[in-house]
Order: sequence, then structure tokens, then C-alpha cells
Amino acid sequence: MTPNNLPRFIRQSAANTPPKTEQTGMYKDFDATELYCSKCKRPVPVRKRLLLVLPEGDKYEYLCAFCLETVGTKIDRQVKPVSVII
Ligand SMILES: [Zn+2]
Repeated sequence: MTPNNLPRFIRQSAANTPPKTEQTGMYKDFDATELYCSKCKRPVPVRKRLLLVLPEGDKYEYLCAFCLETVGTKIDRQVKPVSVII
């Protein structure tokens, strides 16, 4: 794949993504761009900040872009391939 193909590929896959459905309230695996901020009392754009590097994964913190309140954390688990030795 040449670098020139990359933007087109991204645009295509974005087009294939179904439009944002209404939020159900639960963030299963949120790489969210908006989270509810209790201080701003509304969904806000967030900043992702690497907080800790844990053995089970990297812990990220989501900060409100406006008041920098922590609105959520997430652990990006590093799925290590399980080596199956037969
Ligand atoms: Zn806020």
C-alpha cells in the first residue's frame, strides 16, 4: 500500500461506518470523542491522556476539554497473543 492510498482508504472505511446512533448510556469500548462532564452538565469533547502503563494495559484518562475535569478512564488492554504450545 502506498501512502497515497491511505487517505482514500480511511475515507472509505469511514463511509462504511453506520451513522452515529443515539447513545445508550453505556460506553463499552469508548474511544469516545464526547463524554458527559458533570461540571459542564453536558457531553463534552475530551482529551485522552496516558495515565499509567500497567502490566495489563495502558490506562488512559479522559479530560473535559473545557474544564479539564476527569470524565472517565479507560484501560487499553494489550491483548497479548496466547502462545499455545502443543
Ligand atoms: Zn467540563
